[in-house]
Amino acid sequence: MSYQHQYVDGTRIHFPLGKVVCIGRNYAEHAKELNNPVPSEPLLFIKPGSCVVPADGGFKVPQGRGSVHYETEIAVLLGKPLSTAPSEEEVLDAISGFAPALDLTLRDVQSRLKEKGLPWELAKSFDGACVLSPFVAASQFTDFTDIPVRLTLNGEVRQDGSSAMMLNPIVPMIQYMAAHFSLQAGDVILTGTPAGVGELAVGDELVMELPGAARVETRVLE
Ligand code: ZN
Repeated sequence: MSYQHQYVDGTRIHFPLGKVVCIGRNYAEHAKELNNPVPSEPLLFIKPGSCVVPADGGFKVPQGRGSVHYETEIAVLLGKPLSTAPSEEEVLDAISGFAPALDLTLRDVQSRLKEKGLPWELAKSFDGACVLSPFVAASQFTDFTDIPVRLTLNGEVRQDGSSAMMLNPIVPMIQYMAAHFSLQAGDVILTGTPAGVGELAVGDELVMELPGAARVETRVLE
């Protein structure tokens, strides 16, 4: 199924999907669970737009390439371009919505790449590697520094975090990204995953939530 940005009420968002800019190890407890050091400066990587699929109706994961991990994250949709060290106000003005998302990761492949000091694209950028739900308008949130995010897998809560726990909070993180490369309307920011990542299998049932704002049921298709 092809992907088009939309709001939770079904309204289509007119700007096209761009790139997906991600931050790694943005929650201390998650860095610890994978035995990774907490980075001294933000660890960024980019997923191409081609890896985005809608959460609605279920999604597929690669077979025969080792373990596929879910990382549940708060996705931020940008509605305006940002570049050259934007102010906090410019970033706030550019944020158009939030959604729960999955940053799917081929964990065994990533471990091999990490050992060799190689880039992560083979583990992070495959088709279907970013599962996005419809966005809730940013105006629905009063405090961007305390947005909760949760994943329930087969009836069990596995990840339960909040932007309050981020090492790099949302607005300064986007300022940092835009100081290094341009962001466009339609780009998505994945803000890192709280602790509790794990493997997915065909048939798994997932509930992705920004509790109080968005709730999406999906599953891993054959
Ligand atoms: Zn991630």
